[in-house]
Amino acid sequence: MDKKKSRFETEVIHHGYDSSIYHGSLAPPIFQTSTFSFQTAQQGENRFAGVEEGYIYSRLGNPTVKMLEDRIAVLENGEAGLAFGSGMAAVSAVLIALTKSKEHIVCSQGIYGCTFGLLQLLKEKYEVTHSFCGMQTEAEIREAIRPETTCIYIETPINPTMALIDMELVVSIAKEHNIKVVVDNTFCSPYLQKPLDIGCDLVIHSATKYIGGHGDVIAGLIVGAKDMIQEISMTTLKDIGGVMSPFDAWLLIRGLKTLHVRMDRHCDNAEYLIDNLKNHPAVEQVFYPGDVSSPSYAIMKKQMKRGGGLISFAIKGGKAEAQQLLNELHLIKIAVSLGDAETLIQHPATMTHAVVPKENREQMGITDSLIRLSVGLEAKEDIWQDLKQALDKL
Ligand SMILES: *Cc1c(COP(=O)(O)O)cnc(C)c1O
Repeated sequence: MDKKKSRFETEVIHHGYDSSIYHGSLAPPIFQTSTFSFQTAQQGENRFAGVEEGYIYSRLGNPTVKMLEDRIAVLENGEAGLAFGSGMAAVSAVLIALTKSKEHIVCSQGIYGCTFGLLQLLKEKYEVTHSFCGMQTEAEIREAIRPETTCIYIETPINPTMALIDMELVVSIAKEHNIKVVVDNTFCSPYLQKPLDIGCDLVIHSATKYIGGHGDVIAGLIVGAKDMIQEISMTTLKDIGGVMSPFDAWLLIRGLKTLHVRMDRHCDNAEYLIDNLKNHPAVEQVFYPGDVSSPSYAIMKKQMKRGGGLISFAIKGGKAEAQQLLNELHLIKIAVSLGDAETLIQHPATMTHAVVPKENREQMGITDSLIRLSVGLEAKEDIWQDLKQALDKL
């Protein structure tokens, strides 16, 4: 559909779907098929030769999945999108497609644990090297770049300390060296942050999180320039094969329709909790880019719409007190995902970041007293009441 682009809040609901073609069905159909029959042998030949558009086999493309890919591309202000069976299928397809043996990736600190694992594997098996960089100053970023660097890979906010990386600064340095910038935008969703608008080359999502939004699907998405997406589609998606199922695409199309409403409520609730946490005697420090006293607040204003739905805080005490806090909760669930309707709490030092050696952890600000909360959509007073009664017992 080559229509003029509407506002974000309209595109999440309508983009790329014309119900009149499908009996007026308000919800899009699920094309639950593995393959597509050709009308003639000639048509089969033409489809394979790429001279005629059309579907061949669902690993190479499927109409339900395509609808989601087109929708996410528009939401990220990108040319094309591509769907994967998980966030990690997306991350691995991107990194394998973009790098060759002897090349180097500069990576932000605190990246997702399995992305960290993938980088180790790429180094050990394929000699694609990497190094980590805090990316908090221009000097630091310049210093991290080597002659063989071909990719900068970032997550902002940095998990779980919620410090931001100035994407405009990273892009300006990367452009000087002809280096591609890839952003894992999972924590923000396109509603809060659009890295392609700032000049980044590729956006990745674990759609399992805010895009799905209901904790019932594992999925990944990427958005970027048509050429790059096409290349990934025809190599590391097609030949490694981590594709998304039509049903999961349908769940994500459904989830996306409320993304803007959910994100604003996640942010409202997070702001409320931060205000209350700051004034509780058992809390040492809060970490939230949407908080005016955060060192990242100026960058937040520049590149994000709002502060997001993830908050961290340090309690007075250590591991024992942190675990006690988690065990005292009733409404809030102990779990490591994020972006769901339910408020989820986790202890990074013993859960998401347990694989990081203790000294590196502490250097990154991940102390035993740090707690991360994925703020849900419940009544903010109820979330706070649960947290408060647990904090009061410490
Ligand atoms: C969850 C997550 C991933 C991995 O996504 P899956 O869908 O679990 O494979 C990657 N990056 C970030 C930032 C995540 O939170």
